Formats: sequence, C-alpha cells, structure tokens
Amino acid sequence: MLSEVPSEVQQAVSAFLQTTTPSVVLKDFSFVSGGCINSAGRLKTTAGDFFLKWNLADKYPRMFESERKGLQHLRQPSVIDIPEVFTAGQAGTFQFILMELIAKAPVAKRYWEMLGERLAQLHRVTAARFGLDHDNYIGSLPQSNAQHDTWIEFFIHERLAPQLQLACNTRRIDPPWLRAFENLYPKLRSMLPDEKPALLHGDLWSGNLMVNEKGEPCLVDPAVYFGHREMEWAMTKLFGGFYEVFYSSYHLAYPLQPGYDDREDLYTLYPLLVHLNLFGASYKLSLDSILRKYS
Ligand code: ADP
Repeated sequence: MLSEVPSEVQQAVSAFLQTTTPSVVLKDFSFVSGGCINSAGRLKTTAGDFFLKWNLADKYPRMFESERKGLQHLRQPSVIDIPEVFTAGQAGTFQFILMELIAKAPVAKRYWEMLGERLAQLHRVTAARFGLDHDNYIGSLPQSNAQHDTWIEFFIHERLAPQLQLACNTRRIDPPWLRAFENLYPKLRSMLPDEKPALLHGDLWSGNLMVNEKGEPCLVDPAVYFGHREMEWAMTKLFGGFYEVFYSSYHLAYPLQPGYDDREDLYTLYPLLVHLNLFGASYKLSLDSILRKYS
C-alpha cells in the first residue's frame, strides 16, 4: 500500500517524476521480500513502475549515493544487465533510491552460460589501482575502498584488517585471533597471485542475482570496487555456489590462473568476517578451520 511509503519519500519521488511527467500520480506500492537491510518494493505510478528502496539516513550515511554510483559503474561497460538508477537522495530523515524495476520472465536456456560470459567481460574492465574513488557498504557495514597498487595490500588493509578490528572491538573475537591473522599475512603474500584490477560486483550471491524480462541475468545491490576477480568467484561459492556451467563458461571466456581451488578459502575470509560481524559467532567455526588449514 502506498501509505506504507513515508510521506517525505513519496513527495521527493513525485517531485522527481514531475520533472518529466508533470501530472504524475503515485498509485500503489508493494514490498518485495529478500532484502536484508532496507524497505524495498515496487512502486506503481502513472509514469510507469519503479523499484524504490529507503531507510533512515542517519543509520547508513550515503548508502544509496554509493549504490547509485556502484550501479552506474557496472552499467557503464554495457556487458551485463544492471538496473538504471533514476535518482537517489534524502527526504526528511530518510534516504531513498529510485531505479528501473526488473520484471521477471521465464529463465532463458543459456542463463548460466550468459552469466559466466558476461561476468568475465565485466571483469575485463580494469583500472590503474585496486579500490575505488569512493567508499561503500558491504551489507550494512561500511566498506573502505582506499586505493592500493597491489591486490595483496588492498586485501589485507581494506578488507581483512577493518573487519578484524570491528570483530575485536565488539568482542566477537579475542586478541589471539588477530595474531593468527598476522601470521597468515606473509602466506597470503606468497599464495595470492597478482593480476590487474578487475571491476567486481563485490557481493555476488544468489540473492543479488535476478532474471530480467528477457529471462537473462541481471545484477542488483552491489558493493563495487576494482579487486581480484577470484574474490568474486569465492563469494559466489560461499553458500553452495552457482551452477557448474556458470564457472566453466566464465573460465572459457577469461581463464583464472592455475591453482584457484587452493586459494578459494583465503578469499572467503573476507565475507566470513563480514558475516561474523553482521550475524554473530556461528561463522567463527568456518574462519577457524581456514586459519588452521593455512597455519
Ligand atoms: P537490500 O539493499 O535491502 O539488501 P536489495 O537491493 O537486495 O535490498 O533488494 C531486495 C530484493 O528486491 C532483491 O533480493 C531482489 O529480489 C529485489 N530487487 C532488487 N532490485 C530490484 C529491481 N531493480 N527491480 C525489481 N526487484 C529488485
């Protein structure tokens, strides 16, 4: 129901839509399930249907501004479907983002091959350094994208260390864990191959993967940065993985360096630490077993 959208957000969205459709009327709103953090759903208007998300601006400063920029980064090379963002901004105590509504069709036969091929193309988009020109969020946690010349320095200083510090500050882990990670860092330096920075979705799990109106893959809700593409693979595998044909199609289009399987767990340290910080101690077991495996 439209009344479930805060009136400040309704007014801001109307004002935006009026710039192109002077007598626009907002007609209806229905929540979608599956979101982790925000209120989100389908907004029906006389100017068409949209996808609208909002939250309290104080709680997650600039979250939708960084989502807008991230989606634009991913859309820019035109290799995979990414929703177009129409506007993002603040409305009273709320922030909101208004984007293209992805309308689902039956899944195309080559859906997973397409995803593999298109993600490989996305990963060929490169930059001078690892990181990004702005910080963003991973789930509801701030994610630093301060830039580094090498993947390993970026991975240690902008991915692992901040999450470890947060886990320590909130007493989810104790100091021996910090030492275990310190001991791991030289191994990471010798085990993780360098590569040129790749444009990553950054939070690619099944919940952020959609089917568009052609039945083809569409990516939403990113945590974009230029990183190592093996990080993206590891993220997809964390909770069971995608269909095998996705990985083989990707590999054919843009082969990974030999030995990825031996490195996969090391990349998952980051999403596991994020999950530890977001959802609690149950993720300690997986982290512990990886630390032991590489000690
Ligand atoms: P949150 O930021 O709260 O995690 P998401 O951006 O993941 O929210 O969106 C929640 C759900 O809404 C997604 O799992 C997906 O099913 C759906 N969704 C996301 N973006 C769109 C869109 N542009 N059009 C239609 N549905 C979308």
